[in-house]
Amino acid sequence: MRTGGADRQREWQRPWWQGLLCGLMLWLVGAAQADEPVRVAVIIDDMGDHRALGERTVDLPGPITCSVLPHTPHARPLAEACYRAGKEVMLHVPMQAKNGADRGPGGVDIHMDQAAVEQAVADDLAAVPHVRGVNNHMGSLYTRHPGNMRWFLEALRAEGDYYFVDSRTTPRSVAGQVAQETGVPALDRHVFLDHDRDEDTIRYHFRRLVRLAERTGYGIAIGHPYPETLAVLEEVLPELAGAGIKLVPVSRLVELHGQEEENSHE
Ligand SMILES: [Zn+2]
Repeated sequence: MRTGGADRQREWQRPWWQGLLCGLMLWLVGAAQADEPVRVAVIIDDMGDHRALGERTVDLPGPITCSVLPHTPHARPLAEACYRAGKEVMLHVPMQAKNGADRGPGGVDIHMDQAAVEQAVADDLAAVPHVRGVNNHMGSLYTRHPGNMRWFLEALRAEGDYYFVDSRTTPRSVAGQVAQETGVPALDRHVFLDHDRDEDTIRYHFRRLVRLAERTGYGIAIGHPYPETLAVLEEVLPELAGAGIKLVPVSRLVELHGQEEENSHE
């Protein structure tokens, strides 16, 4: 049995080594945070229909990510140009929208059987060179159907080592969850830059992306090759480094965060 004196001594001893340990841990956490840059990725999708706007996208400063619509007139040369400029290429797969809007050539709808989905995924991938990952064009109907999304993601996984970004065109999308179940690394889009093509509004959404990334460590935005969006990005992208924010290709964020729980943002 311990004496009261020994207990008092232990009480007295506890603070100094606990304090030291606590201080050391705080220092380590602080050092880790200081070393860990804030990262953002910017996807410009709907590329392939317009040559000049596509080329202006290719010329944007830094590693933005180009997402190209399959079977569009300029898909192949623009994907090649993005790749040559050191930018990552994604395939922008058209998926059925709930309003029945024309989604353009290629892609998937909920009336297709599994074999047709597999064929569409293979054809779309063959139409765009250098693809590292996929995000959905439209898809407010398709992405809410788990069975169809499973066929799509299983077909994608069978074709190779691709990631998936859920564009989140509907809050009811199950794409991220199904990707996790299917073993396809996936992330969600956080911010749409240009639902409204007004330049001040685009700047506002870019600031939202930066604030979100500062809070959580990273953020993904999607924009389009509109003259307004390109003008704002030409202005704000060169300012990122000065603000301590690193522009990275989407694959880098997938590598770092693709296994985390989906829908942890917003
Ligand atoms: Zn799109």
